[in-house]
Amino acid sequence: MRSELLALRAGHVFDGVNVGPSGMVLVEDGVIRDVDFTGASPPEHAAVTDFGPDGWLLPGLIDAHVHLCWDGTKDAVEHVASHDHEAVLETARASAATTLTTGVTTVRDLGDRDYLTLALREQMPPTERPDIVAAGPPITTHGGHCYFLGGEADGADALLAAVRNRAARGCDVVKVMASGGMMTPGSNSLHQQYDRSDLRLIADEAHQLGLTVAAHAHAVPTIADVADAGFDTIEHFSFLTAEGVGLRQDLVDEVVRRGTFISLTVGILPGDTPPAPAVAAHLAALWDLVAKVIASGARIVPGTDAGITADKPHGVYPHALTQLAELGMPNRDVLRCATSEAAEAVGRAGRKGVLRPGADADVLALGSSPVDDISAVADIRAVYRAGHRVR
Ligand SMILES: [Zn+2]
Repeated sequence: MRSELLALRAGHVFDGVNVGPSGMVLVEDGVIRDVDFTGASPPEHAAVTDFGPDGWLLPGLIDAHVHLCWDGTKDAVEHVASHDHEAVLETARASAATTLTTGVTTVRDLGDRDYLTLALREQMPPTERPDIVAAGPPITTHGGHCYFLGGEADGADALLAAVRNRAARGCDVVKVMASGGMMTPGSNSLHQQYDRSDLRLIADEAHQLGLTVAAHAHAVPTIADVADAGFDTIEHFSFLTAEGVGLRQDLVDEVVRRGTFISLTVGILPGDTPPAPAVAAHLAALWDLVAKVIASGARIVPGTDAGITADKPHGVYPHALTQLAELGMPNRDVLRCATSEAAEAVGRAGRKGVLRPGADADVLALGSSPVDDISAVADIRAVYRAGHRVR
C-alpha cells in the first residue's frame, strides 16, 4: 500500500533561508519529498491542504535552550529539585506538548534532572512532542550552579567520565555550567566554576565523541575562556561584572571571527509576572547588550530558557522572536535564526529548520506574513510534526 502523499500549499514559503512565492511542500512518510515554487499543480493522488493566498509555510521553529523538566512557575527550582522521577517526567511531558502547539518542533534541552529527557524521548511518541536535542544534567561543580540536577563533576578524570557517560547514554550535547548562575541559592554568576584547561578538556572530548558543547557563561572572563576552548554555543553571553553589565567588544569580535553561536536568552511573557530579582536588576542593560550583539553580526540563535521562572513558561518562544525584532534584528534574519541557523547550532543541520527534500516534515503554517510583522509567528493555522498535523 502506498503511504499517503500530502501537498501543503500557501501563497508564500520561507524555506529556512529564502522567501519564495506560491509554494507547495510535498510530504510522505514524515519527510519532505519536494518543495515547489513554480505554482505547479499537486500530484493527482495527493491529499491537498491549501492555506490560501495570505498563508505562509515555514520550517518548524527551534528553541535552542529550554528546560522541559522545569515547570515554569516561581517555585520551579524547588519542584525540579525535590519531586520524584515520575512527577518530574509528568512535568516534562506537559512542557513538551505545550511547546509543540506553539510551532516549536525542535528544542535543545540544556538541563534536565537525572537524564529524564532521555526517558521522555523513549516514552512519548515523536508526533506528540518536539524533537529533543538532549544534554542530560548539566556538568557542574560539587554544590555549584544547578548541582541538584545530578551532574556534579570535578577534576579531569571525573569530567572525562561525565562526557563519556553522556555520549554512551545517547545525549546529543554536553552542557557545562562554566560560571555560576542566578537560580541556585549560594551560586554567584561572577564566579568561574571550571578553569580554561578543564573547559578545553570537556570540549575536546565531546567533539571527539561526536557531541556538541554548550557553555553557560555570565562572567566576562568565563566568556573569554569558553570561546577559546572551542565551545559550539555560548549561553546567555551576558558579560556580567561586579558593576553590572560590561560588554567587551574585543570578545564579541573574537566570537564573530570564530563563528561561535551565541544563544541569546530572550523571550519573556508580557504582563505582570516579574523576572527573577537577579535578572530584573540588570534588565535594561541586558537588552542594550543584546541590541549591540545583534548589530555586531554574530551568529545568533534564540534560546528562551523556558521553564525556569514564571515569566518564562513553556510556550513563550513567539515572544523571543518578537523581542529580537524589537531589539533591531530584521524579520527575515529572525526567521533564519529561528530555523536554519538554529538547526546548525543544535547539530540538526539539513534535517531541521529547512523546507528541503529529505528534511523532516516539521512544518508551520501561518495566516499572515512574518516578514511584514514577526508577531505573525503566533498566527498559527497548522503545525506538522514528522508529517502529522498536530494543530
Ligand atoms: Zn538554562
